[in-house]
Amino acid sequence: MKATALGNAEHAAQPHLRPHLADVATYKPGRPAGDGSPARKLSANENPYPPLPSVLDVISAAATTINRYPDPASDALVHRLAESHGLAPEQVVIGAGSVALCQQLVNATTAPGDEVLYAWPSFEAYPLITRLADARSAEVELDRHARHDLSAMAAHITDRTRLIFVCNPNNPTGTTVTRTALEDFLARVPTHVIVAIDEAYREFVRDSDSADGLELLRTRPNVCVLRTFSKAYGLAGLRIGYAFAHREIADALRKTAMPFSVSSIAQAAALASLDAEPELLDRVDALIGERQRLAHRLERCGISIPRSEANFLWLPLGEDTAGFAAHCHNAGLSVRPFAGAGVRVSVAPPEINALFLNVARTYLRNA
Ligand SMILES: *Cc1c(COP(=O)(O)O)cnc(C)c1O
Repeated sequence: MKATALGNAEHAAQPHLRPHLADVATYKPGRPAGDGSPARKLSANENPYPPLPSVLDVISAAATTINRYPDPASDALVHRLAESHGLAPEQVVIGAGSVALCQQLVNATTAPGDEVLYAWPSFEAYPLITRLADARSAEVELDRHARHDLSAMAAHITDRTRLIFVCNPNNPTGTTVTRTALEDFLARVPTHVIVAIDEAYREFVRDSDSADGLELLRTRPNVCVLRTFSKAYGLAGLRIGYAFAHREIADALRKTAMPFSVSSIAQAAALASLDAEPELLDRVDALIGERQRLAHRLERCGISIPRSEANFLWLPLGEDTAGFAAHCHNAGLSVRPFAGAGVRVSVAPPEINALFLNVARTYLRNA
């Protein structure tokens, strides 16, 4: 009966959808590894370590209240982050992952045809959420060192530009923008244009010349800083990130949020992760050590790796990209190819990195 009813419905009139949806691509998640083993999935920059027991305990306890809606303002977490960063609570906004906050910024700033400016290649969500809002993407190619070309970006600002993303470190290349380069850039951006500094990987940054969004926020009214519990804190599956912004931008972020989208479990887990920060940051240190080792060994295979300040490396393989990704997939490892440009690989614990290195070596030797 049901099948017949559905069958008939297919012949009904086409639903009216907004025309621009026709060219919105569906987000493609990182491919699972060939054997389905999560440990071999190096395509999504996830934290490879399981949740800490102390965090899991808090998650279990929080699960006992899921018959209730969560605190829509994430008050406890807002106050905790405000205090530890020297901000007013009004300047902190929690979101269902920082990608939700990116989307809220696009929705808050653009009308159809307005422009969102960012470097390319960069975070794959930017073009998606821009298109979804029927806004236009202005993509400015990275420079030859796979870094943001901030002066070219400044030259691409028009009177339709509403929002600029600066991804620091940049996903997928791992490169950072320096404090002075970003300050010079900000001086060229009209103050009515919001600059979102996406710091999803900031806990992995060790280069002291790298720009610090929070520092810039203090003197620049149009800067907004985006951070997340997904990467360094290992809560990707719980969907929780945060923004620091001046009051007007923060208010706009609160207005554009989907109500109750940040669960009470996520809020509790984020607080527990802040309590467990030293332990979590030890894991970050271990991954940074692995990042350096892996980069060094890949370079010895004759491939030049841009200095990464994140939990992944960029292999600029150009035309070899698809072949390399397929080779990894056949060996049971999933990596993230960017067609014709390169491959991003997430840094893992030593055994998995060693496995990846062997797989990479056999390809690079025969290339
Ligand atoms: C992973 C990532 C995010 C966000 O992740 P959420 O899980 O939505 O917090 C944001 N920006 C960049 C550049 C990322 O790589």
